[in-house]
Amino acid sequence: MAIPSDSDVIAAIATAQGRAGIGIVRVSGKDLRAFAERLLGRAPAARAATRAVFWGKGGELIDDGIALFFPSPGSYTGEDVLELQGHGGPVVQQMLLRRCVELGARLAEPGEFSRRAFLNEKLDLAQAEGVADLIDAATEAAARCALRSLRGEFSERVRGFGRQLVELRALVEATLDFPEEEIDPLDREEARRRLARLAEELARSLALGRQGSVLRGGLQVVLAGQPNVGKSSLLNRLAGEDLAIVTEIPGTTRDAVRQTIQIEGVPLSVIDTAGLRDTDDIVETLGIARTWGAIEQADVLVLVVDARDGITAADHAIAKRLPAKLRPVTVFNKIDLTGDAPRAEENEQGWSVRVSATTGAGIDGLRMALLRLAGWQQVDGDIFMARERHLVALERVAAALERASHSEPRAEFFAEELRVAQRELDTITGEVSADDLLGEIFARFCVGK
Ligand code: GDP
Repeated sequence: MAIPSDSDVIAAIATAQGRAGIGIVRVSGKDLRAFAERLLGRAPAARAATRAVFWGKGGELIDDGIALFFPSPGSYTGEDVLELQGHGGPVVQQMLLRRCVELGARLAEPGEFSRRAFLNEKLDLAQAEGVADLIDAATEAAARCALRSLRGEFSERVRGFGRQLVELRALVEATLDFPEEEIDPLDREEARRRLARLAEELARSLALGRQGSVLRGGLQVVLAGQPNVGKSSLLNRLAGEDLAIVTEIPGTTRDAVRQTIQIEGVPLSVIDTAGLRDTDDIVETLGIARTWGAIEQADVLVLVVDARDGITAADHAIAKRLPAKLRPVTVFNKIDLTGDAPRAEENEQGWSVRVSATTGAGIDGLRMALLRLAGWQQVDGDIFMARERHLVALERVAAALERASHSEPRAEFFAEELRVAQRELDTITGEVSADDLLGEIFARFCVGK
């Protein structure tokens, strides 16, 4: 696909498709005054809600709504932005969008407003990713994390690491440019100390980021078992009151195959295998194919059995049909009928949990087992919504610091690892490494030297 020009005027319907009270068409471009005058009859006042009529090409009315004008640079994208709030019907919105195209706009690519915000330095890369993660958040905990990233908390942390690296490099790199200078032994000691502290802070951030990544990705669970063992009862019990407020995992459509519940904010996408059977019905066959597709992507198998019967040949047959890579949790349900005590334990076969969906006994143990399998750990501090690339970058930084800590602070090796670390950090926020290192170095010299 061709890279779209960043100088075009772009327009898009910013609200969800379908009938709604209000729909918003958003326009961004270098100079939108003339555009606004032609569409609205006059350019609206800056940053004020202006009652406006949206005019068609031939002077006909398209809609009667509100216009908001954000002149550059005080806007989301950094360009002139026009937000047109009209009635939220799909036809009205399309008419308005088409009118914007007539006036010279082109349809915006996905994420293009945020891309411009990044290019115009309104947001850094990690913040822009936070925007997408907030919109896609499947649970409240995930949304709170994403908002922190959007507001720059994660970026600020990364920049803080960057600043510490610059200072550290300044301590050891002086001799690279001025070979006649010796590294002061005290500076060397100081460098070691700072390196250790930085590595420690980084490890903490990585742990918080890994938790954020769990919140973002959640766990894909296949729920299986024979009829009447209590699968639905168990799912309802696990979901508790949360079921109603949880939305679908981004990118998937709401369907009968999958339900999302949450445990401590970690989204669990539960794939029901009830409909898997041999059939000639074409619609059903398609549904079954979709279920198998979902199963292929899953992480965990929750196999529910009746505690009175234990694992039977039929259960082995069910498990055998499912991918072997699924990590199994065997749930012995209905312990209220057997008198067994609730229990959750892990052995070579996976997790084994005894519960009663009816009384709720043992459900906490099941929740705990699922959270463990998701990789969830209780960590203190504000979790941030890390993406895989952030984690990879942070891990590389940690590895570089580790190597540096093992190398004798002979300036070249030590400094090289720190440079590697710096580059990795810069990839997170998307900065081109603005290297003001020399300035730092000179600032540390005495006057006249
Ligand atoms: P599914 O077919 O596997 O989804 O099973 P259901 O959840 O529909 O449950 C089948 C029957 O078992 C229902 O009558 C439930 O009330 C009952 N049931 C489910 N869990 C328990 C349990 O823990 N204890 C008892 N005594 N009955 C249960």
